[in-house]
Amino acid sequence: MEYPQLKNKKCIVFDLDGTLALSKQAIDVEMAKLFSELLKKKLVAIVSGGTVDQMELQDVNRLPPDTFLNNLHLFPTNGSAYYRFDGKEWLEVYKEALLNEEKEKIKQAFTIAQNVASISEIIPTKTFGEVLEDRTTQMTFSALGQQAPLDQKSAWDPDMKKRTAIKNILDPLLPEFSVRIGGATSIDVTRKGIDKAYAIGKICQYLKLSKEDLGFVGDAIFPGGNDYAALQAGVESVKVENVEETKNIIKYIIL
Ligand SMILES: [Mg+2]
Repeated sequence: MEYPQLKNKKCIVFDLDGTLALSKQAIDVEMAKLFSELLKKKLVAIVSGGTVDQMELQDVNRLPPDTFLNNLHLFPTNGSAYYRFDGKEWLEVYKEALLNEEKEKIKQAFTIAQNVASISEIIPTKTFGEVLEDRTTQMTFSALGQQAPLDQKSAWDPDMKKRTAIKNILDPLLPEFSVRIGGATSIDVTRKGIDKAYAIGKICQYLKLSKEDLGFVGDAIFPGGNDYAALQAGVESVKVENVEETKNIIKYIIL
């Protein structure tokens, strides 16, 4: 496959889970090498629903030691925070933390949703680790818990029907927030308007680029998918089936 629409972009923006790595897993050795090569040639941004700590664990810390990190820009929790490397260390450029009363309201809405009969049946009783996680700028519900085994996560809601049912209960309870279906089992709640399109706007603003300078690569570019907003923002986007296809894209760009 060829991806000429990405070749001349100044900055390639990647989703993380399902695109660069399997859900919550580290990038593999081949991806680490390719990603490092890409950073020699292009600005690269990662936009994910996850935290900056996850981005470091899954990606940054796996890159070869000589990687040019100055070209890497991290936009965790859908662009509600931004980190860049200054040659020595990672700097927090901004972080738009939720207020405590906002977090409380979100927690209460999840409690209500979990008590609705039709929903309480689909939420597993056995969970692994934290289910509703405070990510400072975002609250994230993981139906099976943050540490659930990958195979169980993949099997739980592949068609997003379960999470759509939960979202439909949450939406009217949280009109001032965005409720979005995230990675394999998660629902992310942020202030309204914080999504991958918001992150795209921040990338343009801080890297002094226009949307035409960006190319986006993600596994969930379809209505209801958490990468769809990037396409809707008007960025040239390529939907990948899996991590291997992302590798092929990077190989094509760095050729
Ligand atoms: Mg994804």
